[in-house]
Amino acid sequence: MTTDAATAAAATAEAREETLNPFHIVQHQVREAVNALGLEPAVYEILKQPMRFFEVAIPVQLDDGSVRVFMGYRSQHNDALGPAKGGLRFHPQVFPDEVRALSMWMTFKCAVLGLPYGGGKGAIACNPKEMSPGELERLSRGFIRAVAPIIGPSKDIPAPDVYTNPQIMAWMVDEYSKLRWENQFGVMTGKPLIIGGSAGRNEATARGCVVTVREAAKKLGIPLKGARVVVQGYGNAGSIAARLIHELGAKVIAVSDSRGGAFDPDGLDPVKVLEYKNKNGSVEGAPGTRPISNDDLLTLECDILIPAALENQITVSVARRIKTRIIGEAANGPTTPEADDILFDRGVLVLPDILASAGGVTVSYFEWVQNLMNFYWTEEEVNQRLEAKMVEAFERVYAMHRDKKVKLRVAAFMVAVARVAEAMRVRGWLG
Ligand code: GLU
Repeated sequence: MTTDAATAAAATAEAREETLNPFHIVQHQVREAVNALGLEPAVYEILKQPMRFFEVAIPVQLDDGSVRVFMGYRSQHNDALGPAKGGLRFHPQVFPDEVRALSMWMTFKCAVLGLPYGGGKGAIACNPKEMSPGELERLSRGFIRAVAPIIGPSKDIPAPDVYTNPQIMAWMVDEYSKLRWENQFGVMTGKPLIIGGSAGRNEATARGCVVTVREAAKKLGIPLKGARVVVQGYGNAGSIAARLIHELGAKVIAVSDSRGGAFDPDGLDPVKVLEYKNKNGSVEGAPGTRPISNDDLLTLECDILIPAALENQITVSVARRIKTRIIGEAANGPTTPEADDILFDRGVLVLPDILASAGGVTVSYFEWVQNLMNFYWTEEEVNQRLEAKMVEAFERVYAMHRDKKVKLRVAAFMVAVARVAEAMRVRGWLG
């Protein structure tokens, strides 16, 4: 290619990225898997959109006495393998197609792990950082009153996601139980322990991600001891992943959150950085670290990069400059498809979100099972079962990647789509 043609091609890739809609990205991923598996077109026709999508307007009285109406969404993508399952996020910029896409990723995430669930996702457009606990409680309860008929332990089971937490789950379970006149702990997962939460749930997304990274590092012959790790996002997934990988002997050299970043080439202490963030609102400025921009953080020279924030963070421009060997996607949809191709060409091993971020929903499944049987496991039992499920799923995806010579992401979608298609077939949905 001439330099001009290369520049033009690059410009087109970047222009395409600007109009990125996660819904179109996941449709592309499903189409690719359906074609690679040689499945009939009906599979794609059914899976290319959610089977149900709900939009609700929730009036909430604010502390100053005024009323504000918040928009809420719940998307149920497919329930061939079991009830819809997936988180509920509170974020000011959520939009309906994003929720649709996230629910689709959940179907495939559950299927890769072999969980008896379909996929769902919900969101409320709000800024929880600017709301009081009372306002958040009224919003959470209002959302449940609006969606109560469509959720339930055998229909659709929400869980925490971006900026939601066990307390929000507790208000929601309480509201749902009151409406039903019976305790229904199995309607939500990620609850506080005292009302049917599971030991180990809080750490599960991070733990699952670290297990897949550890297995990938083994395959590539990279020792975790001393490996340089960068983590983008310091919420539940990122901060715990940093701590767990540090405990395995890796050196966490940079971390960030929505407000800033912290860098220490000699390795920082993830627990101390979290304490600093809890006191000061951001990791930036943590003692012994230097501030670092988001772009510099993503392109730092390291062995393992863990994006644990939002969608579309690793773009074409970032992918061209990335200097890592493994990417463990703890977030949903952090890498754009164009960037994914570049990373593949550059030999970076990307552990796709539907595998690497599946630890949370896996322990949600354990929580739901414990709720249904009213018998609770120890943290050790939960972690052992999580470890076993993650390793098994990793091996399944890795074998497909090796046998079919496709990217791990395509392999994961192939494993998942094959399972969902088989369920749809025996249920008679495919004619
Ligand atoms: N929100 C998490 C995810 O995206 C967990 C979902 C769940 O536990 O149902 O996987």
